[in-house]
Amino acid sequence: AALPAGTPAPLPAPHVFSDPSEIGALRRNLLAWYDRCKRDLPWRTLAATEPDADRRAYAVWVSEIMLQQTQVATVIDYYNRWMQKWPTLQALAQASLEEVNELWAGLGYYSRGKRLQEAAKKVVSELAGRMPRTAEDLQKLLPGVGRYTAGAIASISYGQVTGVVDGNVIRVLCRLRCIGADSSSPAVIDQLWDMANALVDRSRPGDFNQALMELGATVCVPKAPLCGECPVKQHCRARRRKLFGKPTPVPDVEDCGVGGCPLCPPATEPWDSSLGVTNFPRKGAKKQPRVARTATCVLERRGCHGAPEYLIVQRPSSGLLAGLWEFPSLPVDQGLQEEKQREALADHLQAWTGWPVVAGGLRFVGEVVHIFSHIHQTYVVYSLPLDGDVTLDPALSPSRWVTEEEFHASAVSTAMKKV
Ligand code: SF4
Repeated sequence: AALPAGTPAPLPAPHVFSDPSEIGALRRNLLAWYDRCKRDLPWRTLAATEPDADRRAYAVWVSEIMLQQTQVATVIDYYNRWMQKWPTLQALAQASLEEVNELWAGLGYYSRGKRLQEAAKKVVSELAGRMPRTAEDLQKLLPGVGRYTAGAIASISYGQVTGVVDGNVIRVLCRLRCIGADSSSPAVIDQLWDMANALVDRSRPGDFNQALMELGATVCVPKAPLCGECPVKQHCRARRRKLFGKPTPVPDVEDCGVGGCPLCPPATEPWDSSLGVTNFPRKGAKKQPRVARTATCVLERRGCHGAPEYLIVQRPSSGLLAGLWEFPSLPVDQGLQEEKQREALADHLQAWTGWPVVAGGLRFVGEVVHIFSHIHQTYVVYSLPLDGDVTLDPALSPSRWVTEEEFHASAVSTAMKKV
């Protein structure tokens, strides 16, 4: 029968979970595997043992923000130190941005730490210290909390029946249901959210979501998934397709048997049998990172006890690496000759410190490349030893002399540590 006007066409069967008994089996298999194999992680322990809902939500929230774009192994140590220093929202709300940046240094994407602290302040001052109790309210009321983080906090801390979609979930679901359309497109992402919400276990939503992400992180990994050990392999259409091929010789444009299917691989990039299950997911062309170059100078003096000290200055409070400390630096044009670059840096140092700095005094040390999420940054590193005692004008941008040890304990980026 014809559908009423305006009704979206139902999705082709190969791309959805429509059989309730299959959904039930998938939930059971995944949860049983999770109970057996889950990694022991400090935030999981807290979420399982903390009786106070606000503290539980806070503990999960911190872990989720730290885990964005950062490996679990790196996060554990940061997480433990953070929770020790600021075990509650109230404690975090009273921290200074400097302390937050110092603890965050090395985790990357520094604005995440800053936003977390701002949001904690908001919960304490505007919401009487009570965390919003649903995914919808968490997303609406807390700055820096998007749909994924809200769903994770609400399902893990409060048991709200709501799915989550992150990079791991995208990969698993696209493989389970042979979704080969661009997985970063809004239409596909919407479908995946619907699927995650339909699949999530009704009585253990937090565990189910963590299990799905854990599966993506440890079994259904990007390059060489361990399909033989996968607890949901019997529900996986990518694996079935790899093992048994297509049932009948249908042209690739009709991958799932429906011409122009919005979820199949595009006709221009059909299924490639040499890739097997890693045909899924597909991503649209990645944006090339911007290329940038910065001249930076390590100014060194003898400190009062004879140990070398280095000058660091604070970056502006907004923009990239906001509020972090660095060696005095100057962005330079890509094509600028070395000599000109050195002169520009010398002028900058002179204007900024008020001392006479000659370009010839700057010693070229080498180049350091650091990839930020969207910037391919090259630091051209110079050094300048200074004789005698130099004091800086406090009216200039915030700056301080630090020993090597103090430098490492300061809120400096990983890029500056490389420098
Ligand atoms: Fe991923 Fe393989 Fe499991 Fe399918 S069978 S979900 S591709 S690990």
